[in-house]
Amino acid sequence: MTLDFLGNLQRTHKCGELRVEQDGQDVVLMGWVNRRRDHGNLIFLDLRDRTGITQVVLDKEISGEAHKKAEAARSEYVVAVKGKVRRREAGLANPNMATGEIEVVAQELLLLNEAKTPPFSPAEDAIANEEVRLKYRYLDLRRPQMQHNFELRHKVARAIRNYLSDEGFLEIETPFMTRSTPEGARDYLVPSRVHAGEFYALPQSPQIFKQILMISGFDRYFQIARCFRDEDLRADRQPEFTQIDLEMTFPRQETVFRVVEGFLTAAFKTAGISLTTPFIQMTYDDAIRNYGIDKPDMRLPAMVDLSSELTPELREALKIEQNLPVLGFAIPNAANLSGTQFKALISEVRSFLGDSGLDYLDTARLKSSPQFAPLEELIVQKLRSGYLAFLETAPHGAKDDNLLVGVITPKLGTPAKWNHDPQWIYKKVGALRLELAKKYADKHKLFEQTGTEADYKFAWVTDFPMYEWDEEAKVWNAAHHPFTSPHEDDIKSGALFNDKGSVRALAYDIVLNGTELGSGSIRIHRKDVQAEIFRSLGMSDEEAKQRFGFFLDALEYGTPPHGGIALGLDRIVMILAGATSLREVIAFPKTARAIDLMVDAPSPATDQQMRELHLRTVVRT
Ligand code: ASP
Repeated sequence: MTLDFLGNLQRTHKCGELRVEQDGQDVVLMGWVNRRRDHGNLIFLDLRDRTGITQVVLDKEISGEAHKKAEAARSEYVVAVKGKVRRREAGLANPNMATGEIEVVAQELLLLNEAKTPPFSPAEDAIANEEVRLKYRYLDLRRPQMQHNFELRHKVARAIRNYLSDEGFLEIETPFMTRSTPEGARDYLVPSRVHAGEFYALPQSPQIFKQILMISGFDRYFQIARCFRDEDLRADRQPEFTQIDLEMTFPRQETVFRVVEGFLTAAFKTAGISLTTPFIQMTYDDAIRNYGIDKPDMRLPAMVDLSSELTPELREALKIEQNLPVLGFAIPNAANLSGTQFKALISEVRSFLGDSGLDYLDTARLKSSPQFAPLEELIVQKLRSGYLAFLETAPHGAKDDNLLVGVITPKLGTPAKWNHDPQWIYKKVGALRLELAKKYADKHKLFEQTGTEADYKFAWVTDFPMYEWDEEAKVWNAAHHPFTSPHEDDIKSGALFNDKGSVRALAYDIVLNGTELGSGSIRIHRKDVQAEIFRSLGMSDEEAKQRFGFFLDALEYGTPPHGGIALGLDRIVMILAGATSLREVIAFPKTARAIDLMVDAPSPATDQQMRELHLRTVVRT
């Protein structure tokens, strides 16, 4: 086939732009053949570019030559069309297309490039095999949904950039080739050619650099930064991902919160959602007590503490441990279960609880006993009033509540783990609440998108514990990265040195619909406190000096109080796009096994590269 040259031809419009107002105009369009329909003397080409699709008509009577070329054109050919806009005849308009009231009658058709038959057509909505999509990512990205996702991503990032710039933040780049940054994952390493046996680490985050920028007096920093973490990939993780990373001097926690609420409001506005600020704020303890998790999903009613309803006598009669919490929760609109379904549910719940020492209390059975019937009534009443309070924040919750009630009790005898972690019961019941909410999502519909602000339940979680107890190793581990400041009162009181379990961190998370969008903290700005934290993490002064000596030095030259946060941009865009995977909003993502299927990475290095890098592969058998 002979291909045409573009020459000096220029587009007058994009494929999504023409309307009846342009009826009669001469236009030039260029794009890909989305679909071709051959009706003999008439051939229709749907021409596609990023902006949309226009129907082009090739009429043998009007332009024989163009019609002939159109006979040769196939899906995904790249063509240019010179023609005239024509209003479609009554009844032939397509209300599903933005350009559906017009078509372009071609006078000339240029075949600019041909295309092999693609493994899947970008014109199809449903494409089953994700591996094929990732291998032929350039075709996948041609799909209107993907083009929409990346336009949205661009707009969100731009809105955030603009907002932060207006608030006095400077965008400053930090290095990719650096030293290890302790965020709790493995590093990706880059071998040095010049320094045999030495490695750069790719940053797990710009954490240390952004703190140094505060020491350098930049006052407010941000970066839409790539981070690299070599973790075992879960479904919603990528080895490299993008954070909205920021840091500021002299902040209170609230200063950080207001900035984040501001840029999220700007970002959500680009997707047509207006957010109400400030967001709800709760302490870590409250989050655990009410939701059993540090990232509460407030699209569902909170748990209800029924401990006081279970009097000592009732506990004794029902063989319930005296001093431990009894927790209940309600799943709206899910109570209509058949006897068999209900039995299956109870055994599912019991197997979820396993040998934890917790048990499901069958409230339905309480009803039949005069001794326990009032208790059943009380429980249902309490859960119902909890649900009614919740409804005020969840306008699309079912008014006809029909609550499926779950009450979980601690059996007699205390399993050891309750002694180490009294919050453990809340966590276990919280996990069950989420599990059942997922199971009955079709019934309560509380996860369904309504396209309004009500779909997005934000919360700040504050006052995290500074340390977590590792029962196996019998040590306290930092719950956050080691630059997080303990609460000032807990430094003053000496708890930092002698009562680690009670120390609160000035750390905060921002949570949306049960996922953590980001986390941050007020940082340590004093060398003595920083050294103590390293020490308490089991790092000797020697090791701290070796790994972070430069930073400890910097702390000695007038470090201002500072703090910041980082939020996952990929996740924010994913949520706004209504996508279910980060791969839908990352142009060239990796698979769950960290492979880029398009470029086929990772791949072996050549012998010469290995020699230059002073490396040798030893395959262990
Ligand atoms: N560096 C932290 C992270 O990547 C965020 C922060 O503390 O600002 O999670």
